Amino acid sequence: MKECLSYNDVLLVPQHSDIKSRSEVNLESRLGNKSYTLPIISSPMDTVTGTEMALAMEEAGGLGIIHRYCSIPEQIEMISYEGVRAAAVGITGDFVDRVAALYNAGIRIFCLDVAHGDHLHMQIAIERLKNTYGEEVHVMAGNVATREAYERLSKWGADSVRIGIGGGSICSTRIQTGHGMPTFQSVLDCSQSECDATIIADGGITTAGDIVKALAAGADFVILGSLLAGTNETPGEVFKSKKGKEYKVYRGMASKEAQKDWRGSFSSNEGVSTTVDTKGPVKSILDDLANGIRSGLSYSGSRTIFGLQAKAEFIRQTVSGQVESSTHILRQ
Ligand code: IMP
Repeated sequence: MKECLSYNDVLLVPQHSDIKSRSEVNLESRLGNKSYTLPIISSPMDTVTGTEMALAMEEAGGLGIIHRYCSIPEQIEMISYEGVRAAAVGITGDFVDRVAALYNAGIRIFCLDVAHGDHLHMQIAIERLKNTYGEEVHVMAGNVATREAYERLSKWGADSVRIGIGGGSICSTRIQTGHGMPTFQSVLDCSQSECDATIIADGGITTAGDIVKALAAGADFVILGSLLAGTNETPGEVFKSKKGKEYKVYRGMASKEAQKDWRGSFSSNEGVSTTVDTKGPVKSILDDLANGIRSGLSYSGSRTIFGLQAKAEFIRQTVSGQVESSTHILRQ
């Protein structure tokens, strides 16, 4: 049986560095024909990415994908802003009409956003998009967990693939279905492939260090949900507790609560809904993450993500190592 590793199981070995300042580190990454200065994408979830988040992500040099859990006119409304824009769609139901409406509204980056992307419906959807709109559109497909699935989606025509099944902070897929794979391992496996679809690590990222590990393992971008949840730019109301503490809802799109809201009923329940403390402007979170990632590249003696991937040396840490790696004074 194959043993698979999670972000917490591994560390990057520090390497000689001649980088004098973090400002020498360049976090540029390419998605299709566009380059981004921050390799971070905000997740297409209804408590993460609406117009405000997409604008803030663009401002920070990353990308926001407008979620699909609403009517077509509502989604068109959300993508109606000046910038470079990306939108999520499903792969069945109103897929054809939604894609056509988004395309007519100027969308060229389509995220085919489903839980189990290694599926016949995904092949049909990718081929339909590519046959209709050709190379003019960027197709981001997923999610998948294995190299074989990544290669299948690439061969069907996906330009980028979201890697990660069951690792999301609000995800109960592994509990409900017994399926999944630690995302770090999935990314590492996909990066060994000859296929060149952009690799996007998605789910379970809790720190800048996890982002550095994902990039070093071969990801070109990461998708964040919980790290951005609760910021000013996320859609949704701010609630106040009796003691004056402010919080917002963050929920899995396959949670009972989310499904009831967007499709009126629920079937397989593979996510949870929770609340998170408000965090202020997303810019401060992204700045912190970017500083951590730059520092991470510097510890590996690398000025670029590509350089990091070429030099990265991972070691596996023991449980004692994991304890030592944490801020253990806080455990006392
Ligand atoms: P996080 O960054 O760990 O919070 O994970 C966010 C990711 O979880 C998203 O980008 C999706 O890939 C995934 N996700 C969103 N909703 C659900 C769900 O209800 N069940 C399982 N995975 C989900």
